[in-house]
Amino acid sequence: LPKEHSLMIEAHELLAKFYHHLLLNTNEGAEALDYLLKRGFTKENIQNFRVGYSLPGWDFAVKYLENRGFSHEIMEKAGLISVREKDGSYFDRFRDRLMFPLHDSKGRIVAFSARALTEENQPKYLNTPETVLFNKSSLLYNYYNARSHIRKQGNVVLFEGFADVISADSAGVKNGVAVMGTALTEKHVQLLNRLTNSVTLCFDSDSAGEEAAYRSGLLLANYAIDINVAIMPDKLDPDDYIRKYGPEKFRENVIGNAQTWMAYKLHYFRKGKNLQNEGEKLSYIERALVEINELENPVERELYLRQLSEEFSLSLETLIEQQSLLSGSKFKKQQKKIEQRNTLQPKKKNQ
Ligand code: ATP
Ligand code: MN
Ligand code: MN
Ligand code: MN
Repeated sequence: LPKEHSLMIEAHELLAKFYHHLLLNTNEGAEALDYLLKRGFTKENIQNFRVGYSLPGWDFAVKYLENRGFSHEIMEKAGLISVREKDGSYFDRFRDRLMFPLHDSKGRIVAFSARALTEENQPKYLNTPETVLFNKSSLLYNYYNARSHIRKQGNVVLFEGFADVISADSAGVKNGVAVMGTALTEKHVQLLNRLTNSVTLCFDSDSAGEEAAYRSGLLLANYAIDINVAIMPDKLDPDDYIRKYGPEKFRENVIGNAQTWMAYKLHYFRKGKNLQNEGEKLSYIERALVEINELENPVERELYLRQLSEEFSLSLETLIEQQSLLSGSKFKKQQKKIEQRNTLQPKKKNQ
């Protein structure tokens, strides 16, 4: 590791420790602590995830790191401070925010995500900018800590937000990680694929979350990963759900009841469709038939065909006949899709 990189990591470790101390043990941090406790975070949560608080002043981190011998160049490269254009002086990037340290896959703190405490303070979340150590397209929150749980359980739960990971952890779901406010990337999938072949998507149940779950599922399917999708009622996110219904319901009714990828796709395709309308009904059935036809497992294929047959009072024979017509015309397209999948698929599971 170049000297510069270890200094940048050391600066993060020192600051994280101090922010954590400020939050837990000082008057300056009392309001932030109160906010977290009121939200339902526990002291244990706060300690496990090393949550902290950054002071409102403009140059706390600048001074703190100066006193410990760090150069401004290192602080700036680490994304911890910025330069004022008018006079070249430095100021802290993170002020008066909850500080969530971000660990890389080796467990080193390489960045922060900082949440505002009030609505007026925008943006709600402020991340470290891209640096030599931090790229949000290749980092998953809580990956390092969740590794052993993911391996042991043979499954990872993928969330949208920090609060979801932390709440789920205290609800006993410790194999959770979150994307950093971006779409799931190939890099993320490769990280997950090192540990497991099974992913449960647990995104916010608003329409942005449903879109994200669909897009993430498509990407994961390229890697032949087994996908399940957990859904919650009333547009809640997992953190909200746990506060409202408790840990047991979350484990049993949400995670334990996650739908198969095929069931989720069918749910997704019928969203916003009026199935009383003949045209929309037909187009949904066709779409479903094409998807079901792609299943490799004949038992699963029959299972979903039977569901469709019952729901729309159509015979299995009719559905299968329609399916072969569709697959005739769509055969070439599908072949191409399958070839694409095979080239994307990693050669070995544990590379
Ligand atoms: P909270 O419960 O604290 O309001 P949340 O996790 O439910 O947070 P969402 O609005 O659902 O917040 O966003 C999901 C995730 O997207 C966040 O955890 C964060 O990682 C990311 N995110 C949200 N807003 C921003 C932003 N303005 N800039 C960067 N990332 C963001
Ligand atoms: Mn959301
Ligand atoms: Mn959310
Ligand atoms: Mn939330």
